[in-house]
Amino acid sequence: MKKHNFYAGPAILPQEVLEKAKAELTSLNGIGLSVMEISHRSKDFDAIITSAEENFKKLLNIPDNYHVLFLQGGASQQFGMIPMNLLKGGTADYVNTGAWAKKAIKEAKLFGDVNVVASSEDKDFSYIPKEFNFTDGCEYVHITSNETIGGIQFNDFPDTGDIPLIADMSSDIMSKKLDISKFGLIYAGAQKNIGPSGVTLVIIRDDLVKNSADGITTMLSYKTHAEKKSLYNTPPSFGIYIIKLVTDWLIELGGLDEIEKINAEKAGLLYDKFDSDDFYNGTANKEDRSKMNVTFRLQSEELEKKFIEEATAAGFIGLKGHRSVGGCRASIYNALPLESVQELIKFMDEFEKNN
Ligand SMILES: *Cc1c(COP(=O)(O)O)cnc(C)c1O
Repeated sequence: MKKHNFYAGPAILPQEVLEKAKAELTSLNGIGLSVMEISHRSKDFDAIITSAEENFKKLLNIPDNYHVLFLQGGASQQFGMIPMNLLKGGTADYVNTGAWAKKAIKEAKLFGDVNVVASSEDKDFSYIPKEFNFTDGCEYVHITSNETIGGIQFNDFPDTGDIPLIADMSSDIMSKKLDISKFGLIYAGAQKNIGPSGVTLVIIRDDLVKNSADGITTMLSYKTHAEKKSLYNTPPSFGIYIIKLVTDWLIELGGLDEIEKINAEKAGLLYDKFDSDDFYNGTANKEDRSKMNVTFRLQSEELEKKFIEEATAAGFIGLKGHRSVGGCRASIYNALPLESVQELIKFMDEFEKNN
């Protein structure tokens, strides 16, 4: 039976990418060795990491004064690495939009003063705050562009003027066009929209690298990784290889213009369904609905349990909401085909009729 993969992360990868990786698993480009068995300083791996970096620059139109880094430790490590490098005992502004923002705030407090300048906690994180009063002279402003658990997403980014804007884009990077020049730093764990777990993408403006704190342990310093182009130590080479294939796939598909349209169509199908009757109810404020993680509830927890069980049996995998909030969630990342959403809607119609 065909499986439709709605997991929040690690998440679906393009089928074409898995096929290509399978074909090349034991012999990369006919060299007789797997990508997992070669030196990260070999010319074959150099071609891969260079091409992955070039692909990001092309897809996201990244200006020359930014570094594209492939790090480890997940997005969670960036929660600490950012203030460790950039806060330097000063003040940083954070926008609290949910579970992930909270974790980032907790780490930042270890390294300086944190002002939570806006929060949607008053309404269970069902919306994106729109009013901000940034602190004069703060080191940076941190936002979570898409809250994977709550299912809310920034449509417009706050204008922070000269203050560097930093965004955790783990669950919506590359899902739509983006003006990189508005940001000082963007980071994302790979396992939602760009590859397998084990790689963390960091896009950082050069002046932030230059001004970052000295005297930090080598592996947690942006200076180290920018200077050595992600090759200070052994990078997660297989993950970077898969990311190269995923970005090749995205370029082939037509880039961010094209994927943005497809993603809007997929999300639109589900949200239209919620709006057309009262059986399934979206949890996010309409104008802040995520196009990557669609969160919804049924009338009772028993009915939700039944829905998830029957959906799973019918091949729709990963629809259970995050354990911290319950309910249901359909994660519809770049690699999820439109057809999977269309099939899910059919299943939802059928379930509604029978219940
Ligand atoms: C998944 C996720 C994280 C955590 O990522 P790890 O790579 O597991 O550390 C952080 N922020 C957001 C928005 C996420 O979706």
